[in-house]
Parts: sequence; structure tokens; C-alpha cells
Amino acid sequence: MLDPTVSPSELPRAEKRLLERAREIASRALNPVSRFHVGAAVQAANGDCYTGTFFESSSFPLGVCAEAAALAAAVTAGVRDFDMIAVVGGDPQSTGPGRPVTPCGGCRQRIFDVTGGPQRNVTVLCADLTLSQIYRMDICTLLPLPFSAADLPISPA
Ligand SMILES: [Zn+2]
Repeated sequence: MLDPTVSPSELPRAEKRLLERAREIASRALNPVSRFHVGAAVQAANGDCYTGTFFESSSFPLGVCAEAAALAAAVTAGVRDFDMIAVVGGDPQSTGPGRPVTPCGGCRQRIFDVTGGPQRNVTVLCADLTLSQIYRMDICTLLPLPFSAADLPISPA
């Protein structure tokens, strides 16, 4: 079975910084129902960072994942070249480390599509709120056998 666990002490500085940014943003989650915090930070190839936080809606399906919000911010800024994305989350009331929060199925597809799929195969970092439990993977590992633009009858622009 896949074990993407990585020790915090093994993290390159840029990855640690991106996780810290995602954790900072997680505290801004708008989560009156779940109280769950999630933040995401996307690093563009030019080094710029875009962030997003999770926000709920009283109509549950309308809630927006942190990853989707961060990707939207980056795309809105015109970014098309990505290096990695960090996702950090958990229950801020819990004591001690939790399980790393991984992107939901929909966000795996979003990350795959927006960041360029297998051509770029961006790094995906996931962590709990203490940043002591960390997974490092790539998007093709997180989304095996993906549906992609190549499956469409029309080539993407
Ligand atoms: Zn999601």
C-alpha cells in the first residue's frame, strides 16, 4: 500500500514554507457547520503563491474546497505553470497530531486539470494542523487512471 509519509525534518524549505502558508489560511475557514479547517496554497513556477480557504454554505453542495479556491485565485491571476500545492486541515479543537488532510475526489480532478496533468505532475503536500503528519505525493499518484482532456473528442485550445 502507498505510504506517502514524509518526516517534517526531511522537507525542503520551499515545501515547508508552502505548508505553513496553507496552515495560516486554514484558520480563515468559514465553517459554521463542520468547524473543520482547511487551507490550500498553490505555488506557481515563478515562485508566486496563491491561497484559498474552505467555506461552507447552508446549502451544503455549494461549499467550496480550499484547493478549489486557491486554484481559482491562481487561474484568475493568469497563472498556468505550477510547481506544487499544499493542503492543510483538521479540527482546531483536537489536541495533538491528526491525519493529513488529502484533497477530495473532485479536487484531485481539479488539480490534475488546472496544473497540466501528467506533463507537469505537480507535487501535492498534505498535512494536519500541527504540520507534524505530512504526506508528499504527486497528482498522478493521487488520481490514477484519470479522465482528462485527451478523452474528449475535441482537442483543448
Ligand atoms: Zn475538494
